[in-house]
Amino acid sequence: MNSQQNTINILFNKANKKVPLKKLAVMTSGGDAPGMNAAIRAVVRAAIFYEIDVLGVMSGYIGMLNNEFMPLQLRSVANIIQKGGTMLKTGRCPEFMKPEGRARAAANLKAMGVEALACIGGDGSFRGADLLQREHGITVIGIPGTIDNDIFGTDNTIGFDTAVNTALSAIDKIRDTAASHDRLFIVEVMGRNSGFIASQVGVAGGAEEIFTPDHPITVDQAAEKIKSGLLKGKTSSIILAAEGQKPGRAYDLAEQIRKKTGFDAKVCILGHVQRGGSPTAADRVLASRLGAYAVQALVQGLQNVMIGTQSDQIVFKPLIEVAQNEKKSSKELLQLAQILSL
Ligand code: ADP
Repeated sequence: MNSQQNTINILFNKANKKVPLKKLAVMTSGGDAPGMNAAIRAVVRAAIFYEIDVLGVMSGYIGMLNNEFMPLQLRSVANIIQKGGTMLKTGRCPEFMKPEGRARAAANLKAMGVEALACIGGDGSFRGADLLQREHGITVIGIPGTIDNDIFGTDNTIGFDTAVNTALSAIDKIRDTAASHDRLFIVEVMGRNSGFIASQVGVAGGAEEIFTPDHPITVDQAAEKIKSGLLKGKTSSIILAAEGQKPGRAYDLAEQIRKKTGFDAKVCILGHVQRGGSPTAADRVLASRLGAYAVQALVQGLQNVMIGTQSDQIVFKPLIEVAQNEKKSSKELLQLAQILSL
């Protein structure tokens, strides 16, 4: 087995099974994201195709430490492809950050006969999975699931498209009110460290300015844009702000803009609605591909890698490389939003 190989045969054919894998565990970890269920379903059904038993680990690393496992059969994952959240639940587990916690978790997996783990989550979950492999020799594969899309080595993560569309439908509604009352709105979307949601929604929703942690702009810049829009006959504006390190920052921005322009801005914080809901077709397809080909990768000998897509092709990156690198949102989209909202 090796982690350097970066291609697999994606044809489902029992002759592709080069590794005599008998039992696989699947988990969801970190923040939940729409499409995680579709990924679980894909892992389970692809594994059963290769005659591999599957155990679901409940609540991320918490369940691994507490021996909360659930056998998953073909029908266990029926009727979940359209559901948001995760049937396996998810969670954050401080104990797993310590070597003793990981040792216990690994012992629990081994006692259940688990030989490999498919971890659906973000880069924190991948750091944990990477250590499980390095310290205890459990084969792992990462499947990127987070609404933030901030994972290095893949163009898209499971849940991002749904979150963008959820935020966009809210912006469209807010625009109706903004236009009817000639108002300025500041809409805050998720994104602690990244501006992927903000920049996509900003362009798709026709925002005047976009505040992101990746490519910060000043309040002066936004104030100038609002004033120049007014001079050109604009009667309402929408500014998008990624939450950054301070959820609720939209209220500060509104106050600063009021001081600089004299305009009152209404604030709308979208919050957790962006995490839930039925996954879009794009997220279901992505989750189905990544889940199924993660199993293909395992039976063909890949380990300690994350599966992702680049230019719509399936790719594999060592988990350590994924965890050690940052992915920034595109400056191009910010420029586009600027030009198109003149
Ligand atoms: P995400 O996977 O969405 O980035 P977190 O960063 O909260 O979410 O990570 C989820 C869980 O993964 C943590 O609660 C912890 O149990 C585990 N984890 C995160 N970082 C590490 C690490 N450096 N070492 C070991 N386990 C980690």
